[in-house]
Amino acid sequence: MSSERKEILKHAKRILIKIGSGVLTGENGLDLAIIENIVDEIAAFTKQGYQFVVVSSGAIASGRHRMGFKHKLQSLPEKQAAAAIGQGRLMRVYSNSFGKHELIVAQMLLTMSDLTERTRFLNTRNTLNMLLEWGVIPIINENDTVAVEEIKFGDNDNLASMMANIMEANILINLTNTDGLYDGNPKDKKKSKLIPLVKDITDDIEKAASSVADPVGMGGMKSKVIAARKVTAFGIPFIIVPGKKKGILHEVFSGENVGTLFLPMEEHLKSKKHWIAFTLRSRGKLYIDDGARSAITQQGKSLLPGGVLAVEGDFSVGDPVTCLDASGQVFAKGLVNYSSRDIDRIKGLKTAKIKQVLGSHPYDEIIHRDNMAVSKDNGK
Ligand code: GLU
Repeated sequence: MSSERKEILKHAKRILIKIGSGVLTGENGLDLAIIENIVDEIAAFTKQGYQFVVVSSGAIASGRHRMGFKHKLQSLPEKQAAAAIGQGRLMRVYSNSFGKHELIVAQMLLTMSDLTERTRFLNTRNTLNMLLEWGVIPIINENDTVAVEEIKFGDNDNLASMMANIMEANILINLTNTDGLYDGNPKDKKKSKLIPLVKDITDDIEKAASSVADPVGMGGMKSKVIAARKVTAFGIPFIIVPGKKKGILHEVFSGENVGTLFLPMEEHLKSKKHWIAFTLRSRGKLYIDDGARSAITQQGKSLLPGGVLAVEGDFSVGDPVTCLDASGQVFAKGLVNYSSRDIDRIKGLKTAKIKQVLGSHPYDEIIHRDNMAVSKDNGK
């Protein structure tokens, strides 16, 4: 047992498990035996005092099998309709399997827009916490029947990474249909090796992940590594393990060297900043001069009008906006105190001039430090 694993698992009691379609479904739709195995394990650990939230895919795949379609569904209406068929079945299977252990399940279907609005984000968190307090197992999925491109998580790796933040999970366990992250294509067994521990998500790690797609689910390894980046940025460890393996959770919790463990980043973002950085979609851009950039990145200062070189986009007060340096490198994202129109009028000016130009001076800062996430690659 490596010391890192031991340390992480010692404190892990609030667990988020993401189960991919590739694990849950087989030739004949939902694989009841696999689901039963996973549920048995979750139930056993729940009885020992662990709290679990499950992010489960499988609605679309299950609906597709139920309809007898052999082909992969392409269009959005097809996927939405298949999810409407499959989601109910998926929940029935979970409900029956957990019911055997006298555990109650709850369904939570979300879209991205439920999390980008702060009040809904907080309500989602309240519901989740209440369910956990009641000893119920929340089963979460994207609300595929209504989700369109604009408001989609896209894949459940992304959805799970956001839930990890909301529930303040101690670890996110990603059950997949591979053994973990390989340094090449895992199908090429001779040449590629499993990476057991990732301390830092380097370009090489991203490259290793980019080649392998998931034939059943939506994510593939690339989206798992993107999710790992978000989750570890919040200070939460992330582990990718083979979900079909019997006793896999037992192996994880006894610290065995299974799968790929991504260690949490040492300097991690607080919940609100993580939400700004990773949940919100940027509505525009502010180009910032070098002086203001280093005041923000080195000295923890807020962004003042004097540091703004140019404004791009049409955004309102409170919108999330990306900050870039003069060369176009993104270094921060934050919620603005002024609209794009007003920033354009006060950019480059001393704070004392705001009132003179705009007629009022509600804030000194364009973005207050408390509403800004700073990191070299957070602002997508
Ligand atoms: N939400 C989708 C489903 O339940 C799956 C998304 C994914 O595979 O990441 O079918």
